[in-house]
Amino acid sequence: MKLSLSNGIFSKLGLEKNFAAVKELGFENIEFNMKTVRRENDTAVYAAKKLLDASGLKCLTLHSATLHVKDEVEVHRAVYYGKISLEFARRLSAPIMTVHSNISKKLPQEARDRCLALIFKELNQYAQSLSIKLALENLSYTSTGFGKNVDQLEEVLSIIDDGDMGITIDFCHALETKQTDNLLEKYGKRICNVHMSNKSHKPFTQENQELTSFLTKLHEFGYDGPITLELEHKTPIEEIARNKALFDKLLNEF
Ligand SMILES: [Zn+2]
Repeated sequence: MKLSLSNGIFSKLGLEKNFAAVKELGFENIEFNMKTVRRENDTAVYAAKKLLDASGLKCLTLHSATLHVKDEVEVHRAVYYGKISLEFARRLSAPIMTVHSNISKKLPQEARDRCLALIFKELNQYAQSLSIKLALENLSYTSTGFGKNVDQLEEVLSIIDDGDMGITIDFCHALETKQTDNLLEKYGKRICNVHMSNKSHKPFTQENQELTSFLTKLHEFGYDGPITLELEHKTPIEEIARNKALFDKLLNEF
């Protein structure tokens, strides 16, 4: 497994300072979170690529910009955010893009399913043309989006899965919704990205039974992808450094 840091934690900094802060902590890999891009326009991608190349960081995954559609008229904007995110993934050479369902949990099922079909018809096709794998993330109960447990994710996948849809398992969300075992049992072999933090996106300060058991199960599924630390943006630098040291040690054991 490879340790990575979501650069969303430094989203308030410009990209140059953002990458510098990640490097300063000693990380080699990042998940590029689209919320670090001030304006999701087409040309911003070139500046991001130049700065990433200069930093020497490797972009293992990209977190898509998402819009949890509450009304069908918003479908086009969700597609735009998804496609521009794919453009970033392509230029930053990220082979995997984490996506949410892009659907509000308040939308009734019929409209939800119709919107899912419309959005992912376009995103799947574009991702496939760029050879980028999409990985659907499990959400927390606090999210405005739909897809917090196996039942909801199964509904989403039954519409959007083109046979190649991966899963991003967010351990914080899984702990908050008490879904860790169900998600692992159902999607263990499909996981291609892991968002790692304790509840409320707080860093783990030490090893505990839940964490060890989770990593052991991932290992048993043969998982060797990213462990992406996705931490709350107020996390002090010293705590991020301690969190990194903990995972450097743990990932040596798995
Ligand atoms: Zn996440």
